[in-house]
Amino acid sequence: MSLELDGDAFRRLAERTVDLAARYLGSLDQKSIVPGTRGRKTQALFGTPLPEKGLGAAAFDAVNTVFAQSMAKNGRFFGYVLGSGEPVAALGDLLASILNPNVTAWRSSPAAVTVERTVVGWLAEAVGCSGFSGSLVGGGSAANLLGLTLAREARAPANVTGAQPGVVYASSEVHMSIPKALSLLGLGSQALRRIPADSQRRLPPGALDRAMAEDTAAGRRIIAVVANAGTVNTGAIDPLEEIAQVARTHGAWLHVDGAYGALASIAAPERFRGLNLADSISLDPHKWLYQPLDVGCVLYRDAQAARAAFAQSDAYVQVLEEDPLETFAFFDESFELSRRFRALKLWLSLRYHGLSAFRDAIRANLDDARALADSVRSTPELEVIGFGDLSAVCFRHRGPANASADEVNAWNLALLQRVQQRGRVYLSNAILEGRFCLRACITNHRTTREDALAVVPEVLAAEKELETEQK
Ligand SMILES: *Cc1c(COP(=O)(O)O)cnc(C)c1O
Repeated sequence: MSLELDGDAFRRLAERTVDLAARYLGSLDQKSIVPGTRGRKTQALFGTPLPEKGLGAAAFDAVNTVFAQSMAKNGRFFGYVLGSGEPVAALGDLLASILNPNVTAWRSSPAAVTVERTVVGWLAEAVGCSGFSGSLVGGGSAANLLGLTLAREARAPANVTGAQPGVVYASSEVHMSIPKALSLLGLGSQALRRIPADSQRRLPPGALDRAMAEDTAAGRRIIAVVANAGTVNTGAIDPLEEIAQVARTHGAWLHVDGAYGALASIAAPERFRGLNLADSISLDPHKWLYQPLDVGCVLYRDAQAARAAFAQSDAYVQVLEEDPLETFAFFDESFELSRRFRALKLWLSLRYHGLSAFRDAIRANLDDARALADSVRSTPELEVIGFGDLSAVCFRHRGPANASADEVNAWNLALLQRVQQRGRVYLSNAILEGRFCLRACITNHRTTREDALAVVPEVLAAEKELETEQK
């Protein structure tokens, strides 16, 4: 069997694929969110031997089973921080794979490189950071790693001689991708100094300033401050302007982890004042720009810092005489060489809908989260534990009368599992000050007000079930 398909065979397969996709989208709202499967079942269904002889079009028969064994992310999916997979962008992904440019440098892929640089510029402008440049990556973790690589090379150069010790600061609410990045960079996760967050779960600038002064006095090398523009648990936004001031005073690089929240500044810029004072920023369009996985974005103020960290040759210097657009290479500003055309989905999605549609959707998510938090507050059995500046609501059931703290935690864990099993809404969890919470995070363009208000009745119904079983 030849690997090449004739035109008709391709068209038939593609039509079948589009039909499946359209049916799926049409039935999403009625589906149970969880597939109700088990590890043994998926192993039996998919852990089959590699076929020596091709199945032809019959290979696609099993795609239905893949869909059926997956989570259906309709408007009531509120788990983790997960975007909802906007379908125009999904078509962009298909076209990107068909065209298959290798987005290394303008010389290899003139259109794709220019589209990506344009889209990155659009994102920067949309979050109030005009003039920043950067690149699209696999997600927020990769964007944080890239930002911190720039920071390390700017403040404690290591590319040639290896890593030297240094300190990086963040609040105790920092995402795990930050210590992971420090491990990868050879600084060690111990280099992260976690400043206890305040009662709003934000990084207190005063405590940051004292810690930095202390480390400087002790002769430690200060590398960077990582500020949160939306903590993963509760969506807290650190006071970016004040933190930028403290970072500047102590000569630190300022990286903002905006993987969850920074794109919300499209709808609520007043909450992100100071974002444009960062040296580098991570964004995650596959979260709050509703793009299909995967697409993250790193932005930086000074492309020269990216070249200092990543360019392995002096080639970029030698060709200065030439057209800078035509000599541009992403590999001079990133650890990636071969790169896929992630920008096409974003480009089509933003052009199709326009920025205002995204602004409206983000604003609706913010409003719906507030409505959800209010509905929890007006339910005597429930309490809000953490609701920060964005769209994540952490809450819990107060538990049976006279229950101990451990028992209330266990009750809420059982409650969460029951809510998930019921398949009507999907919540994940967070542990805040030792308290197990149910967590709803709305970064979903399909969510309606009705969907958001379905959470409390679902939790109460699940609780009824648990109570009945206990009797
Ligand atoms: C999701 C998230 C990350 C990691 O992003 P990925 O796209 O999952 O790699 C980092 N920081 C924060 C605050 C996040 O919410």
